[in-house]
Amino acid sequence: MPDLPGIAITGISGRMGQMLMKTVQDSDAVRLVGAVERAGHDWVGQDVGVAMGAAPLGVIVTDDPVVAFAQAQAVIDFTSPQATLGFADIAAQARAVHVIGTTGMTDEEIAKLEPASRHAVIVRAGNMSLGVNLLTQLTKKVAAALDEDFDIEVIEAHHHHKVDAPSGTALMLGEAAAEGRGVALADVRDSGRDGITGARKRGDIGFTAIRGGDIVGEHDVLFAAAGERIILRHVATDRAIFARGALKAALWGMSQKPGHYDMLDVLGL
Ligand code: NAD
Repeated sequence: MPDLPGIAITGISGRMGQMLMKTVQDSDAVRLVGAVERAGHDWVGQDVGVAMGAAPLGVIVTDDPVVAFAQAQAVIDFTSPQATLGFADIAAQARAVHVIGTTGMTDEEIAKLEPASRHAVIVRAGNMSLGVNLLTQLTKKVAAALDEDFDIEVIEAHHHHKVDAPSGTALMLGEAAAEGRGVALADVRDSGRDGITGARKRGDIGFTAIRGGDIVGEHDVLFAAAGERIILRHVATDRAIFARGALKAALWGMSQKPGHYDMLDVLGL
C-alpha cells in the first residue's frame, strides 16, 4: 500500500518499539517505512521482521534517523531523552509528525523541543492511553472540589527495568492535581521520602514509586483526609494501549498546524 501514510519507529528493539511495530503491522491505515536503533545494536542492518523472529518486511533497521525519517509522515519515538532531542530536529526537517512517548525529560530538555515545534507537529505525553488521560481530568476535578484537608499522594508501580521515577504518568497526574488546586506542582512536590523527613506538609503532593517484576504500569491518586479516603486508579495490563494511543496521535498530527500538543488535544478531552 504505497499511498498509506508512512511511519518510522525509533528504539525498534525496545519493549515499546516492538509493541509499536506490531500495532503498525496490524493497522490498515499506515505502513512501516523506517526503523531506527542505536549505533552498535545487533538489529542494525537486519530486516526488522527477521530481527523480531518473523518473515522479512522489507524495512532494514538503521542507526541513521535521516534515512529512516525521509519517507515518513510520522515518527513514533519511545527511547531516551537524549535520543529524542536529536530525533526532534531531524523529524522537523523531514516535516514529519514527531510522537514522543519518551519520559524522564527535564524542563530544560522539553524547552529544547521548541524550535522543532515551530516547523512541525510534536505530540508528547507521558502516557498515551485513553484511560490515563481521562484519569488526569478526573484528578483535576476531584482536586478542585476538595480542600487541603485532603492530602494528595500519587503512588505508581512499574517493572524493574524502568529507569526514571516518578513515572511520566505520575507527574502528569500530579500536574493535574496541582492545576485543580490552583498551585504549581514545583512548589508542592514531595518525592523520594527517606529517613527523618518530618511531618507531612499540608498542601504537598507526594509521590511514591514501586519497582518490580513485569508490572506494565499502575497509578493511584490518593486523596486522604481524617475519616475518609478517595482513590482514583488506573491499571495497565498491556503495552498495546500506549502503542494504539501513539498511532492515533500520529494520524491526528498529520492534519494539524506545527506546534507542541499532548494527548488531551488528540483525544479532545
Ligand atoms: P526500552 O529500554 O525497552 O526501549 C528503549 C529503546 O530505545 C531501546 O531499544 C534502545 O536501544 C533504544 N534507543 C536508545 N537510544 C537510542 C538512540 N539514540 N537511537 C535509537 N534507539 C535508541 O524502554 P521502553 O520500556 O520501551 O520505554 C521507552 C521509553 O518510553 C521510556 O522513556 C518509557 O518511560 C516510555 N514509555 C512511555 C509510555 C507513554 O505512554 N508515554 C508508555 C510506556 C513507556
